[in-house]
Amino acid sequence: MSEPSTICVVCGTEIHPFRDAPHYANAYEKVRKKSPCCSATCAAEFNPDQHWLPAELPPTLEGKAHDRLLVRTRNRLIVGEPPRAVIRDALLGGIPSSILRLHLAEIVAAREQHVEKQETQQIKRGILSFLFGRGHAALESTDEGFDPRRLAEAHADLESWDRAAARARNQ
Ligand SMILES: [Zn+2]
Repeated sequence: MSEPSTICVVCGTEIHPFRDAPHYANAYEKVRKKSPCCSATCAAEFNPDQHWLPAELPPTLEGKAHDRLLVRTRNRLIVGEPPRAVIRDALLGGIPSSILRLHLAEIVAAREQHVEKQETQQIKRGILSFLFGRGHAALESTDEGFDPRRLAEAHADLESWDRAAARARNQ
């Protein structure tokens, strides 16, 4: 194996492990050490939402830890957390992108069912409250199905992850 080198999470430049000291955007990042930057300029441009890919990809989870995180990921998506944030957490936690891609379609279907069930319940409650004189207020649904744009963002993140993994393999 060659010397461990790392890349700037902002511009992708290689940071030599001995020659260059990595820069960090702030004290928190300095302690976390997951998002090194090559220069003060890059550190100033660092945005955790945009530069979320870590310089070094985490080891792949296996066995029970893998299953637990996958279940948690599924549950978070079903209750309506933003797909991009949930998928990023799963990737950073060590679930392979191929597994997430495989499960995403099933999770979306489960989410749609969950929303439909809630809507049915809300309509029932609405009818009851209408019959008993409390108006239509309960008919308003606050829960929505997946916005296809937000799912597309999550898929784009899976692809960025695969590109970073391919780069790491070729190093
Ligand atoms: Zn840089």
